[in-house]
Amino acid sequence: MGASISRPNLRAIQGVQNEVLSEKKAFSLPGIIISPEKLTFALTLRHSAIEASAHPMIVTSAVAPGFNIEYVNPAFERITGYSNAEVIGRNCKFLQGTDQNQPELEEIRAALREQREGNSVLRNYRKDGSMFWNHLYVAPVSNNQGIVTHFVASHYDITVAKNNEAKLMRMAYHDELTGLPNRALLRDRLLQALALAGRYSSQVWVLFISLNRFKTVNDSFGHKGSDSVLMIIAHRLRDAIRESDTLARWGDDEFVVVMPEKPAGKLAIAALQRMIAVVNRAIVFGGQEFFLNCSMGVTRYPQDGEHVDMLLDRADIAAHHAKRKGDNDFQFHTVDMSKLALKRLRIEADLRLAIEREEFVLHYQPQVNLGSGFINGMEALIRWQHPKQGLLYPADFIDIAEETGLIIPIGAWVLRAACTQNKQWQEEGLPSIKVAVNLSLRQFTQQNLAQSFAKVLDDIGLSPKELELELTESLIMSDVDQAIAVLRDIKALGVAISVDDFGTGYSSLSYLKLLPIDMLKIDRTFVSDIGAGDGDDAAIVTSIITLAHALKLRVIAEGVETLQQLNYLRRNGCDEMQGFFFSEPLSAEAFAQILRSGKRLPLCRTLRNSIL
Ligand code: C2E
Ligand code: CA
Ligand code: CA
Repeated sequence: MGASISRPNLRAIQGVQNEVLSEKKAFSLPGIIISPEKLTFALTLRHSAIEASAHPMIVTSAVAPGFNIEYVNPAFERITGYSNAEVIGRNCKFLQGTDQNQPELEEIRAALREQREGNSVLRNYRKDGSMFWNHLYVAPVSNNQGIVTHFVASHYDITVAKNNEAKLMRMAYHDELTGLPNRALLRDRLLQALALAGRYSSQVWVLFISLNRFKTVNDSFGHKGSDSVLMIIAHRLRDAIRESDTLARWGDDEFVVVMPEKPAGKLAIAALQRMIAVVNRAIVFGGQEFFLNCSMGVTRYPQDGEHVDMLLDRADIAAHHAKRKGDNDFQFHTVDMSKLALKRLRIEADLRLAIEREEFVLHYQPQVNLGSGFINGMEALIRWQHPKQGLLYPADFIDIAEETGLIIPIGAWVLRAACTQNKQWQEEGLPSIKVAVNLSLRQFTQQNLAQSFAKVLDDIGLSPKELELELTESLIMSDVDQAIAVLRDIKALGVAISVDDFGTGYSSLSYLKLLPIDMLKIDRTFVSDIGAGDGDDAAIVTSIITLAHALKLRVIAEGVETLQQLNYLRRNGCDEMQGFFFSEPLSAEAFAQILRSGKRLPLCRTLRNSIL
């Protein structure tokens, strides 16, 4: 700041100058007498200081309305590009060019009018038209009669600071990766849209777009790759909306669109379909072509909610519904959805406590050998003894456990409890059978899965032969290479592996051959069709049995409810069955009882003959 002079100093200089020039007398400050020589030197020094200042300075007349410029320093000439000669006698207005509509100018006008100090941040323009942010200070200068004769204006170019501020604002309100508005800005825009819609009785639509299975992209292309894919999607979505709409990034793989609509305008469903279509278009990345799809939830103001959070939450809920339906589609919010979401929230809260409170129990459903008719295994199926809602089935809580990650501790509990129970029955002298435990996706993708199984078996002292894992076909096929690797480790322990719900996913036969598995479990939808539907599903059952045997795998049918189904399976060489026809899932005590009783399937005549 060596070269800049503060306003009070300037005022003093001007005052001194006036006095000296008019009266040529010695100047006194309280207690100090200054000789004319010293004074001349002081004035020269101060004048030089103003001339040397790095900041532009202007002295104007105090005569309204012109406030004409009487002096500018070299820094002014340097920074604005205007020479002394070009500006003397002019009003400072020209520095704002055509940009006269700046509210901050009012403060400067008032300072001039009221002959007081004032300061403002203004957009000023150089001679070449380029803009700079100017923090302008004005101060009145009075003569020795106390009459304001001039104003001194000092300029501070704060363009760099302003740009940084703008950058920070951008960062605070935009997503770094896509440059789209972030949650904070989205809320703000939605708030404004709602205020306008309220005033003009128009509508606002909120779309919540969630990419399906984006994790697979992450796993296949890594973070950098998935970032690029997100950018592609963000660009496509932005191109698909109108200028007046806002597209924001909400979460990792989630976007929100706010669409204000005219009062009578019914937002074209076509707009929603267009957005889904742009997500669906093939993506070429890393030399590969692949396809993404999305689930979209839609809410409308004012029907579905009057507040920002309500509209966003409900659109999110509707998107979840679309996702659960497995649709690549949009879903409007309904009141039932919110009720269901509330129920899910309660379940989620209770689920967190259920393990400690020991509210889970396992039921066991027999798996029966179709040849011998004897039980040779059991599937452990979890139930939740809810303190208020009674016995809950997996359909009420397994999805929530999976979404929240609570499935990890729950699954670990199931494994330990099932193995412990099996061991206990063996120690009680009951026939040795295997126990099948269901594994979900999150559990399956845990690190060191095989080691954790080995530890459980070791702790309990159960032979690996007496444990089987059931994994659904779609889970395995969602990342088959990874599945092969993990299953190999599990298989190496000696634990058996069964492919659950077989026939509902899309197994590639070439992969099926590579999977280290022991058994296919025919999905019950095919079994239930035996003797009922058009016979197509019965034919599928036979094909699965043939396929399994060709691959040297055993095959079990689930959901067997009738004698007709049983006989069909037997005739076609199925190895095992499970279903209500033999037994529903049973509590541990009930299961022990039928195991003790030696309960077996009625044998068919041919089989009985060959055994007897
Ligand atoms: P799943 O693995 O396909 O289990 C078979 C389901 O079919 C069980 O339903 C069982 O009660 C039912 N079931 C058995 N026999 C019949 C029959 O003859 N007819 C009909 N209609 N249904 C039959 P549940 O116990 O409600 O379990 C549903 C699903 O929940 C299971 O399907 C499984 O995917 C999941 N699940 C159950 N326990 C666990 C667990 O401990 N961990 C995990 N991750 N998932 C589990
Ligand atoms: Ca199962
Ligand atoms: Ca199943």
